[in-house]
Amino acid sequence: KNFQSVALVVGVTGIVGYSLAEILPLSDTPGGPWKVYGVARRPRPSWSLDHPVEYIQCDVLSADDTQAKLSPLTDITHIFWVTWANRPSEAECIEVNDAMFLNVLNAVVPNAPNLTHICLQTGHKHYIGPFEAFGKIKPHETPFVEDVPRLPAPNFYYTLEDILFETCKKKQGLTWSVHRAAVIFGFSPYSMMNLVGTICVYAAICKHEKVPFKFPGTKAAWNCFSVASDADLIAEHQIWAAVDPYAKNEAFNCSNGDLFKWRQLWKVLAEEFELEYVDFDESEKFVSLTERMKDKGAVWDEIVKKNQLTPTKLEEVTTCWFADVIFSGECMLDSMNKSKEHGFLGFRNTTKSLISVIDKMRAHKIVP
Ligand code: NDP
Repeated sequence: KNFQSVALVVGVTGIVGYSLAEILPLSDTPGGPWKVYGVARRPRPSWSLDHPVEYIQCDVLSADDTQAKLSPLTDITHIFWVTWANRPSEAECIEVNDAMFLNVLNAVVPNAPNLTHICLQTGHKHYIGPFEAFGKIKPHETPFVEDVPRLPAPNFYYTLEDILFETCKKKQGLTWSVHRAAVIFGFSPYSMMNLVGTICVYAAICKHEKVPFKFPGTKAAWNCFSVASDADLIAEHQIWAAVDPYAKNEAFNCSNGDLFKWRQLWKVLAEEFELEYVDFDESEKFVSLTERMKDKGAVWDEIVKKNQLTPTKLEEVTTCWFADVIFSGECMLDSMNKSKEHGFLGFRNTTKSLISVIDKMRAHKIVP
């Protein structure tokens, strides 16, 4: 087959990597037909087998492994950077994330003569600061807009951007785009931060144990306006930037373009899992999701068995620490004006996005 574009998706089993693997190979995707190479460390999971992707098991933190597996891919035209590594401190995050990105660029840039564009996915922490700086530095004013100065705190998003800018400066015709997501709603049991997946597992456990489906967050998070980013929408945004000349060499926010409140989505979740809707109760002591889920491993095993789900462990399918961060206070909003002004008019209805993620999780038998 004669491909017009060849994608390297680094993090193909992640929350956005999954969407890219699903959308890029479709016959009507802009820039296509696309050939897709997808990289991740673990063996290919059953839920990704339907995607027409050349799956490459490679640890991009290893320079040798990356050279060996990616330097022979001389037909790559586009890189989609949808991976990351978490470490206890931001200094360590910078070290490992920079190393991963440089390993891939060193393997691909000199060997792929038709490489034309690199999409780098980051997020709202560009405007808030890294997790370790939360509450310590003043975030940017909301709604976040793209062209503000960087915050005075080390941030792996900044160092990745700098590597990207330098790389594109050195190679003529190579362009970049940065995609700054809010909390992502998407399907991936392998994601290091999957809020919807985590809440669905919590809902299933509440149902199984016949306990009230309580919001594991603060009143501020329950009542405030929030924004989210649908993983398929982020994939479409990245593909748009990869092929549209008007989107080159720019950083863009990438969120659904609507507002919601968790108190409203909680009703949708209750309905989906056939649970009674429970309002926020101020008189109750705050209990984090990490705390609520800490002894539930055996309960999850039981639910998996009873419902004949794809075998998973509780710690694989939940990222409670991330839910605790998101539900700890008011959501910070962003603006999609810049994307619209540059020609990206895509959007998602967040309620429908939530339901579609739950449907995908059910289709792959991850939750009952
Ligand atoms: P995920 O955690 O969902 O996915 C990570 C992917 O990368 C997986 O496919 C994983 O598979 C793979 N991977 C991890 N380490 C390596 C490695 N060393 N070599 C090869 N593959 C690897 O990623 P996200 O989409 O969440 O994260 C991308 C960016 O988006 C990050 O900067 C993140 O901060 C940002 N972001 C994420 C949000 C969210 O809600 N998830 C919200 C806003 C921003 P495997 O483990 O098998 O290797």
